[in-house]
Amino acid sequence: MQAIVKEKRAPGLTVKSVPKPAPGPGEVLIAVRHAGVCGTDLHIADWNPWAQGRIKPPIVVGHEFAGEIESVGDGVTGLRAGHLVTAEGHIVCGHCLQCRTGNSHICQNTRIIGVDRDGAFAEYITMPATNVLTLDGGTIPTEVGAIMDPMGNAFHTVLTGGRDSRQHRFHCGVRTDRLFCGRHRARGRRDEGHRLGCESQASRARRHNGRARHDQRKQG
Ligand SMILES: [Zn+2]
Ligand SMILES: [Zn+2]
Repeated sequence: MQAIVKEKRAPGLTVKSVPKPAPGPGEVLIAVRHAGVCGTDLHIADWNPWAQGRIKPPIVVGHEFAGEIESVGDGVTGLRAGHLVTAEGHIVCGHCLQCRTGNSHICQNTRIIGVDRDGAFAEYITMPATNVLTLDGGTIPTEVGAIMDPMGNAFHTVLTGGRDSRQHRFHCGVRTDRLFCGRHRARGRRDEGHRLGCESQASRARRHNGRARHDQRKQG
């Protein structure tokens, strides 16, 4: 199959043929129909300091996607070929203390597709069935389903951010998650706004620093 690959420890990405994956037990094989480009992908392409410390080439990049299930592995129930789906790209271990106590979102063994293991900028990707979400019986098109990852970031931020306007800031910009009006905790700093397509270097640096504290697991 064709895929977009970070081939070596240097700037750039390569379109090349790679082996088509096969679903293992508990996994599904998804034919990718739509994918989104995240800031994380650009950092990997640019080979910035974060990417240099995190990415181990060769790896297929991309983590925002939706597609159609082509086949399912042993033990998978409730999902079958033909289902339109998207998937949560953080794959947790299921065995550590955090996972066993219902806190898998902070699993220390989390592996992110397109960052720690092969991702979605490919014709096919395998995912654990437990990470897969159906697109409401096919009523949500895959070009919409592919936006689940950044939408989830923004919605989670808003829903957990509280209501004290002095402790929060509002983001609205061209980055996908900010199109969903993510409101981030400012931690005592002044409120800050980003206009569509218009962001100064200083503003970008402040935002970047805040984001790094907000989510240290993935830079984007
Ligand atoms: Zn992303
Ligand atoms: Zn875990």
